[in-house]
Amino acid sequence: MSLQSQRRDDHAGKRQKDNKKAHDNCDAIKRVRRDYDEGMDELPGGARRIAFFGGSFDPPHFGHLAVAHAARSALGLDAVLFAPVGAQPLKPHGSIAGFDDRVAMTRLAIAGEPALAISLADAPDASGKPNFTLETLLRVRARLPFDGRLFCLMGADSFLTLRRWHRAEEVPFAAPMIVASRPASSSSGRRPEDLKASLPAGLKLEPAPDPALPQSEFEVRAYCLHNAAGESAPFYLLPGLHIEISATEIREQIRAASGSAGASQRVLPAAVAEYIRSHGLYR
Ligand code: ATP
Repeated sequence: MSLQSQRRDDHAGKRQKDNKKAHDNCDAIKRVRRDYDEGMDELPGGARRIAFFGGSFDPPHFGHLAVAHAARSALGLDAVLFAPVGAQPLKPHGSIAGFDDRVAMTRLAIAGEPALAISLADAPDASGKPNFTLETLLRVRARLPFDGRLFCLMGADSFLTLRRWHRAEEVPFAAPMIVASRPASSSSGRRPEDLKASLPAGLKLEPAPDPALPQSEFEVRAYCLHNAAGESAPFYLLPGLHIEISATEIREQIRAASGSAGASQRVLPAAVAEYIRSHGLYR
């Protein structure tokens, strides 16, 4: 066989493999969507006050768990739904690990924590469209029990990008926001002035103490958000969290340690570190 026809065969073989991979991926996405549509949110029975906690979880770390626990305690939540995102619109280069791996790692990170659950509501869209938080929140909210209450939990760095979100001014009214301070976002995200500067135009924030909140070791500040249409929504800030952990740093550490997740044990649940090692992620 000539070199040219050998190359042609190699190319055809690769194209066939790529097509099969794309086809399998598409099937996997459809399966996840179908699972979600069939009600496979793993919400603990009887949960009424629920926070949606979306993110890349690439990988999930102790920072995520600490934020979820603080929010649960401070807001008296019954459950926090960890929702790995398919395609984050503000991260055009996407995640490093695939969706299935991020879901598997998140499942391991929250294992044994009955109030923490997985949601596949933000699974990749088969059309390739990015996942918009507003649409996801509305979908999750529609599935709650009639007396269920949905909140949207995030770190200050995410909140500070709110103005760039799809239909940003509607998001805090779809599910009241709980914003946890984060050291990497400097002083921002802890003071009301910083919060106001990140709000979409037309929204106004004013302090509104919430006497229904439980006693908690975590400080919480309660506000009320108003829009031009006269709607209002609660808004909460958890200003006392200073957790110096980021997924970006963890990935860099793993790469620098030639793939060993050992260096990250301090910031990662052991089962997540082991998953990363055994699947060769982030090398
Ligand atoms: P990356 O470094 O890859 O951007 P990340 O550590 O910020 O990742 P994500 O999975 O995108 O993690 O975060 C999900 C949510 O958790 C976001 O709202 C983010 O702000 C919040 N979050 C993550 N780490 C912390 C932390 N240390 N303190 C407070 N919030 C955090």
